[in-house]
Amino acid sequence: MSMTHVFPTYERFPFEPISGNGVVITDNNGQDYLDFTSGIGVCSLGYQNTKVQNAVQVQLTKLWHISNLYENHLQESVASLLVGDEDKMVFFANSGTEANEAALKLARKATGKTQVLSFHHSFHGRTYGSMSMTGNPGVQAGYAPLVPDISFADYNDDASLAAITDDLAAVILEVIQGEGGVIVGDQDWLHKVQDKCQATHTLLIIDEVQTGIGRTGYKFAYQGFGLDPDIVTSAKALANGLPVGAMIGKSKLGAAFGPGSHGSTFAGNPLTMAAAEAVLTQLTPSFLEQVQTKSAVIWDTLNKFDSLDAVKSVSGKGFMVGIHLAEAVPVNSVIQELQKKGLLTLSAVGNTLRLLPPLVMSEDDLSSGLQTIYETLSEK
Ligand SMILES: *Cc1c(COP(=O)(O)O)cnc(C)c1O
Repeated sequence: MSMTHVFPTYERFPFEPISGNGVVITDNNGQDYLDFTSGIGVCSLGYQNTKVQNAVQVQLTKLWHISNLYENHLQESVASLLVGDEDKMVFFANSGTEANEAALKLARKATGKTQVLSFHHSFHGRTYGSMSMTGNPGVQAGYAPLVPDISFADYNDDASLAAITDDLAAVILEVIQGEGGVIVGDQDWLHKVQDKCQATHTLLIIDEVQTGIGRTGYKFAYQGFGLDPDIVTSAKALANGLPVGAMIGKSKLGAAFGPGSHGSTFAGNPLTMAAAEAVLTQLTPSFLEQVQTKSAVIWDTLNKFDSLDAVKSVSGKGFMVGIHLAEAVPVNSVIQELQKKGLLTLSAVGNTLRLLPPLVMSEDDLSSGLQTIYETLSEK
C-alpha cells in the first residue's frame, strides 16, 4: 500500500472487493469469492438483492433526506414490521453502537437508576456508552475515563445472578456473544437472568445487532430462547448494507423518551427505511423456516469438524458459526489460505474462525464452502 490518508484503525487484507452478486464477491484482480461473511453479518440477503435494490432506487428518485421534523410513513412501516403484534415502540439510529447508546439512555431515564451490568467477552460498540458496556479490555484501552456505573460479570455463570440487584437500571447481553468468540448463551441461565431482572425492576436489554434479522432462523434470536426482553437493539442486517440501527422497547417506556429527549439528524431517513422495509418484508415465516432447514445442513456438516486436530470445538446457532482453532493454527493464516481458495471468512476473539454466510446461500454452496474449510483444516 502506498501513501494513505486514512487512519490505520483497520488491518486490511491486500485486495479490494469491487462487486457482489448473490453470494459471490469479485475483487479488483477479477477473482471470485464465495462469501461466508455477509460483510460482517450485514448483507444477509446477498448482494444486489432485487427487492432491496429496487426499493432504494425508487426512493432515490423521490426524497433522500428531510429530517425528523415531519411525519415519516416509512419509519412507521419499518417500526411495525419490527414489533409485529407486540406492544413496543422503536427509536431509529444509524448503527449498532447508536442503538445501544439509545438503550442505555432510555434505561437510565426510565428507571431513574444509573448502574448497568454487562458481561465479559461482550461487544456492544465503539462509542463511549457502548464501549463502556463492552466486556473486552482491548476495545477500551487508552480511552479512560469510561462512562461510570457499569460493571461486568461472567457470562453463563450462576454466580453472576447475585450482581443483579434493585440498584441496577439494566442488564445488557447478547444471547450469542458474537465478536467475543461466538459463545452461545445457556437457555436456563438466560431465563434465570430474566427472572432476576424482573424481581429487581431491572430492565433486560438484549443486543441483537449481530444475532437478529434471521441470523439464527428467527427474526430475533431471543425468540428461539423464549425470552421477553424490555429493550432489543438491532442494526447490521436490518437494511442489508445501508447504515441503520433500531432500539425497540416496551411501550410503557415511551413516556421517558418524549420530544427532545433523544434524536439524530440522519436516523430513519427515507432511503435506509426503504431498504429496511424491503428487508423485513422478505423475512417471512417461510423464509425463516428455510433458514432453519439450511441450518440443519450446516450443523450436520460441522459435526465432523470436532475430530480434526486443528479444531478445539465448534459453537454457534443457525448461520452463526465459531470454529475454535488450536493455538498452533492461527486464524488469520487460515482466513488468508481460504481467500486464495476463493472463500471469504471472518475471525472472532480466541483464535476463532467465524462464519456468517448470507441467509440466501443454497445448501450446495453452504456444503461446498464448508468442505473447503474442512479440507484446509485437515491439512493442519
Ligand atoms: C457489530 C456489533 C455492534 C456494533 O455495531 P456498529 O454498527 O458497528 O456500531 C454492537 N453489538 C453487537 C452485538 C455487534 O455485533
